[in-house]
Amino acid sequence: MSLAEIIAGLWGGILSLLFPSSCLLCGRAGETLCRSCLVKLPRLEGMPCPDCGLPGDGTLCPHCRKDKLPYSSALAAAPYAERWRELIHEFKYCNHPELAGPLGCYLAEFLEAYLSEAKIDLVTSVPLHAERLRERGYNQAELLAQSLCTVNGKLPYRRTLTRVKPSLPQHTLNRKERHANLRQAFNPLPAALQGGERVLLVDDVITTGATVHECSACLLKAGASAVYVAALARKL
Ligand SMILES: [Zn+2]
Ligand SMILES: [Zn+2]
Repeated sequence: MSLAEIIAGLWGGILSLLFPSSCLLCGRAGETLCRSCLVKLPRLEGMPCPDCGLPGDGTLCPHCRKDKLPYSSALAAAPYAERWRELIHEFKYCNHPELAGPLGCYLAEFLEAYLSEAKIDLVTSVPLHAERLRERGYNQAELLAQSLCTVNGKLPYRRTLTRVKPSLPQHTLNRKERHANLRQAFNPLPAALQGGERVLLVDDVITTGATVHECSACLLKAGASAVYVAALARKL
């Protein structure tokens, strides 16, 4: 744990003593996201594309019929819209690292059956550029992945990637520009993988899939035998 993370943790503790938290969605005193709001959040409907997870009729979607993805599959629990958008915004940008607790639990429950079948060796997350980490104080994808591992109780978490190129605001770019912007944005951490590992890569949101695409390619190059992607939400 870095000094910045320790300070962010202490500061969070002081704030929660001064201002006891309430649920961001219903306002009830207690947790930042209460269980009853959590279970009522919308889920993705339909049968996902087996490769990219886009909801459809359960067969390969038009994109995946055209291009082979580096990852074996991508699963997301929810549509990136309305309340999920607000919630993930709070988690990422509004100093609510504690949302990793309920959201990690949500993801672990969503993935329970899948994880027992996919034979994952370790869980990792999409890294944040050092500059962004300094501003934000935490990497929400990493906290989410760690929380997932805590709830799951069997899978180890490991940092495997580093982000060497800061991202431009992705929402201003089209699909092609996003991929170009992310090219060589990630590097594997030295000795993070021995070779042959089946890795679960966690991110909070999948938008175009460009980020998880680049991270997966990087993990495979570093020796992973397969990469599976999991996210809370995906843009439709
Ligand atoms: Zn609530
Ligand atoms: Zn697909």
